[in-house]
Amino acid sequence: MSARRAFLSLSLEEARSELSARGFRPVWADRLRRTLLAGELPVEAAKPGAALPRALLPQLEADYSWLSLQETAQSRAEDGAVKHLLELADGEAVEAVRLPGSGAPSACLSSQVGCAVGCRFCASGLEGVQRNLLAHELLEQVAWLRRAGEVRRLVLMGAGEPTHNLREVARALDVLRTEGGIGPRHVLISTVGPPAAIRRITQLGRKFTLALSLHALDAELRAELIPSQSQVDPRKLLDAADEHAAATGRPYQVEYVLLGGLNDAQAQAEALAQALQGRRAHLSLIPWNAVDEVEFASPGAAAAERFRDTVRAAGVSVVLRRTLGGSADAACGQLRRRRAARLDV
Ligand code: SF4
Repeated sequence: MSARRAFLSLSLEEARSELSARGFRPVWADRLRRTLLAGELPVEAAKPGAALPRALLPQLEADYSWLSLQETAQSRAEDGAVKHLLELADGEAVEAVRLPGSGAPSACLSSQVGCAVGCRFCASGLEGVQRNLLAHELLEQVAWLRRAGEVRRLVLMGAGEPTHNLREVARALDVLRTEGGIGPRHVLISTVGPPAAIRRITQLGRKFTLALSLHALDAELRAELIPSQSQVDPRKLLDAADEHAAATGRPYQVEYVLLGGLNDAQAQAEALAQALQGRRAHLSLIPWNAVDEVEFASPGAAAAERFRDTVRAAGVSVVLRRTLGGSADAACGQLRRRRAARLDV
């Protein structure tokens, strides 16, 4: 474990004080932080004209690391998504994915090491949660992805349930808003609920877009898929998401992982379409990605398209996503699990 502290673990005020105490102008702290958040290392930015004082970097480098996360593997999918495996200072690892998008590349970030929710179809939840990430560990995921290319949007949809670590997530998002060039309108926060968790996101008072991980409208089936949420009424989740939409003026996304033979039937599509009618919801259908240790079936292409068409015919906005990065360990947590299993990546 590195004995040096991560520079981005200091707040802006702390960083300014640190530089003042060392005899440098506090404003260099602003420059250093923006450089790191842009995905550059200060040594790379210390070009002629950048005018960083020559003595500044060596002094700080004695006590601080510019990036405490280290990249240990990458996996590229056919659709251009690149998954980065990042090792944390304590030896744990998280994944961050850069999604090319059309004109606005995004970063899909992890908010925890592992996840306590335990969705039965997800690799990240198989071993529970190891720990919450700190704000600077979220910021460094953005920095690493920006080293690979532009990032203009964020989705909190990697490993972890963001509302289980909302204080650190909110801290990181505030830094990105003020210093990292990514405002709340370009941030999507995903949650499985319960309704109180959605309200906590709303109470942050920012115009974040919500993504509700629903996966089943039937309470019994949802409890089977997400046992930790067995007390939650899926329709109350939709009501809480409506409240978020009303408070922020932002429509929300409903995430629905299609599992062959479980939640992809015609009757389920019709019931879901009916439940979404009149709400400011956009349905995102995600054909399930195979996870080695999990016994579910992927939906057939025909069943997935039929589900989408049924919902669309009812006038609900819907998209059938390609299985993101299907060729490259795309289900969240798979790259990290491969590392844990000491397989080649
Ligand atoms: S799908 Fe998301 S909420 Fe569910 S276990 Fe995986 S990381 Fe956690």
